Amino acid sequence: ETEKRKYIKGKKLGEGTYANVYLGHSRSDPSVLVAIKKIKVQQQYRDGLPLDAIRETKWLRELHHPNIISLLSVFSSKDQNLNLVLEYLPLGDLEMLIRDIDNVTYGAADIKAWMGMLTRAVWFCHDNWVLHRDIKPNNLLIAADGEVKLADFGLARGFGDPGYKMTSNVITRWYRPPELLFGARHYAGAVDIWSVGTVFAELILRTAFLPGNTEVEQIALICRAIGTPNEDNWPGVTQLREYTVPSETFPVVGKDSYMARFGAVGPDGVDLLMKTLVLDPKNRITAKQMLEHRWWHVDPKPRSKEDLPRKA
Ligand code: ADP
Repeated sequence: ETEKRKYIKGKKLGEGTYANVYLGHSRSDPSVLVAIKKIKVQQQYRDGLPLDAIRETKWLRELHHPNIISLLSVFSSKDQNLNLVLEYLPLGDLEMLIRDIDNVTYGAADIKAWMGMLTRAVWFCHDNWVLHRDIKPNNLLIAADGEVKLADFGLARGFGDPGYKMTSNVITRWYRPPELLFGARHYAGAVDIWSVGTVFAELILRTAFLPGNTEVEQIALICRAIGTPNEDNWPGVTQLREYTVPSETFPVVGKDSYMARFGAVGPDGVDLLMKTLVLDPKNRITAKQMLEHRWWHVDPKPRSKEDLPRKA
């Protein structure tokens, strides 16, 4: 109740799958703007959800990093809905920039800056034992100074079943790694790294890299674009609960073919991209290893955040 009284709710900013988002400000200092995210509670989750989610999100308030959205407060309203008070990020998200081909132009230096911010965010999460589980351009929000901030993270954790968000068919599956598509129950940071790789590819292509309409189609797109998972390239994969691949099989794609499609980031950028999209999660690069990659140090230098493109 005291947390709730710290903020005054204003106009509705937007509506997402799981929440309505409102502009708000601090009662004690009206110049402090916040976004109040009121989580919709589906009927079947009414028992337990708010308390679990509150417990899981409380400690996210301690997770401070320039590339992770700040969770300022959590409270539940009288209708039992969970409310998250977040820093207000007014400049939209990365998806808006990727899609606005007519008005937004960007190149390798911009992609390197955005990927650097995303990679540092993911490294910080993993270093603190947090899996995001829903990395996609639309969850990368942009602050007034151009800083990209990973948003919506960790929320799925509070929803009881660890696979809840991933298996829900209202959530976009384009960024979902093969181990989850095959029903793996035990997974790690590598799931986020795959998503980072698909975002990297999308930044270059300016269209989604693997836009499957169904889970079956998603697996087919991965096989065709990256290679068919099998016991040679991924020991144990055929034992996963939902392992199934199209009968037409494809060898793991090599550097030349990546260069033809993603050459705009140069050979080092392509090397990094390929390491994020390794089929076997055990062999996928980690966020820490990504930060040690030579791509960050070769030309062009990442664009400084003030000079990054903004929405029209
Ligand atoms: P979705 O991820 O489906 O877009 P969200 O619930 O995350 O749904 O957000 C809905 C909308 O609210 C977003 O599209 C955005 O316009 C706005 N929004 C969300 N979080 C913030 C924030 N921290 N600052 C400003 N606007 C936000």
